Amino acid sequence: MTSTRRAGTVDDGVDGGWVALVGGGPGEAGLITARGAELLARADVVVVDRLAPRDLLRGLTPGTEVVDASKRPGDHLVPQDGIDALLVARALAGHRVVRLKGGDPYVLGRGGEEVLACRAAGVRVEVVPGVTSAVAVPAAAGIPVTHRGLARGFSVVSAHEDLISTVPVRRDHTLVLLMGVRHLRRSVAILTDRGADPRTPAATVERGYRPDQRVTTTILHRLPDVAEAIGVSAPAVIVIGDVVTVSPAWKKRAAPRGRPAPRP
Ligand code: SAH
Repeated sequence: MTSTRRAGTVDDGVDGGWVALVGGGPGEAGLITARGAELLARADVVVVDRLAPRDLLRGLTPGTEVVDASKRPGDHLVPQDGIDALLVARALAGHRVVRLKGGDPYVLGRGGEEVLACRAAGVRVEVVPGVTSAVAVPAAAGIPVTHRGLARGFSVVSAHEDLISTVPVRRDHTLVLLMGVRHLRRSVAILTDRGADPRTPAATVERGYRPDQRVTTTILHRLPDVAEAIGVSAPAVIVIGDVVTVSPAWKKRAAPRGRPAPRP
């Protein structure tokens, strides 16, 4: 079957409640889309994720209800089915509900599950894409995920559990690990076992777009020790690949006081 219709918007002409899954971007208020900001301004209720940009809440129409559905690793404040049920119940009660998420709703953010729950309940739902941290947080550190001559593609993978065995290990392919801090040592071991060059440049970018953003560059086999030594903590994006060398942070590391880069 083919279709030329775009997936639904909440402006389809009928009154009543709806749910919009809005990608809030990687942390800076200015990086939400215009459509996302518009729906946020029209919301009666905003259900926020832990990594959703909090600054956006300051601009809400007075009287907008804010529900904090933040989840922390290991201590889920509101379980996913509770969030799904909340979104559906509020929309069926006639409310305009914005589910504000960090980054893009469909990138490791369980947005798909929320959309399916709404559709199953007959609730109008719109998904507003967001700027994903997988691309934007490396960019905040000056790292392009692809770069002519260095990487022709990139993969975004969850490193919350063991890396999937199909993750591409190639010199011309960048790996972007999300949720990767806790199991970093294990992830690096999996990659090197699979033939990744231990000298591949690697970076951690913690708290992208926040005032205390920290960028650390090293090479793959040193990454776990370096991360441990400096106490890398979530949220962080981990980038593995030659594109890391484009970052000003890499240049500083590799050539202190203008000397040529030492061999790793
Ligand atoms: N849907 C989100 C990703 C959710 S998974 C998106 O598209 O961006 C959560 C992971 O995203 C975190 O563990 C971390 O790896 C990454 N992340 C999100 N925001 C971040 C930020 N501001 N700085 C660093 N990492 C971030």
